[in-house]
Amino acid sequence: MTDSPTQLEPGGANAIAVALGILGDEWNLWILRHAVDGCRRYGDWMARGSISNAVLSARLAGLTERGLFRKVRYSERPQRFEYHLTHRGAHVWPILLSMWAWERRWAPDSRASLPQMRHTGCDNEFVPELICHTCESAAGLHDVTTLPGPSGHWARSVPDSISRRRSAASGHPSQVLPHTMVLIGDRWSSAMLGALLLGTNRFGEFVDRTTAPPTIVVDRLTRFVELGVAVTEPRPEREDWVTYRLTDKGAAFFPVIALMIAWGQRWFRAPEGPALEFTHIACGGAFIPRLACGNCRAQLKAVSVQIVG
Ligand SMILES: [Zn+2]
Ligand SMILES: [Zn+2]
Repeated sequence: MTDSPTQLEPGGANAIAVALGILGDEWNLWILRHAVDGCRRYGDWMARGSISNAVLSARLAGLTERGLFRKVRYSERPQRFEYHLTHRGAHVWPILLSMWAWERRWAPDSRASLPQMRHTGCDNEFVPELICHTCESAAGLHDVTTLPGPSGHWARSVPDSISRRRSAASGHPSQVLPHTMVLIGDRWSSAMLGALLLGTNRFGEFVDRTTAPPTIVVDRLTRFVELGVAVTEPRPEREDWVTYRLTDKGAAFFPVIALMIAWGQRWFRAPEGPALEFTHIACGGAFIPRLACGNCRAQLKAVSVQIVG
């Protein structure tokens, strides 16, 4: 059954690693975005953009293996299949919405290629807002406490598949999320971002926490500063040392990460328990992230969101 959660291997990759492995890939996001919009057959996706047959079939196979699609035969001779979104596949839509909203707000260059979102409840274009499912109040990075859970060891949270699956030949989708991909598009970037969101601010702490090679840590921190998600501040004890601090742009990415982790932990279960445990400070309950319409405040449902363009 694809609609019950997948049990992961004891001691292996945890829900965060699996979620990042799936969602840190531009083509997977592109395929899912169009699936939410009704694509089911090869030709449907081929008509939406310049994806190659090889890339499409590899990604569909991977997403089916992970339980986001169900393969359904629609023709006997020749044998042909449709790919139907499962519940877990369909539940990716709030993550896509939050990525588009963040790019639209913080990456002006990509604005023109992003879809518009309309809430049928209030008949307006909207910006989604992260809320707590239990108390329905708004929740940002600083409204939530995060503790490691029993499967939360850093080494288990790093996806091993993103960089391997990428190749120059596969190109990029026409609808890109360039800044999002700097943050989650390779295994070490996402680990570094996680450390930054959890308040890590010194070089040595990044190395210790993420177990990334120091050259990678330097490279990713430089990219984060260039992208404007982190800034450096001098350290009083030595002028050539700096600390790294999350900017507003960096903190504003929290909804994407919170929704990705919640989705991962909903559908991929490590036998030891969750990787991270979130608590909403205001209500004291377990934090279950949801999106609300920024205009009318109603909690968003898939059926009440129209994606245009
Ligand atoms: Zn709450
Ligand atoms: Zn609304």
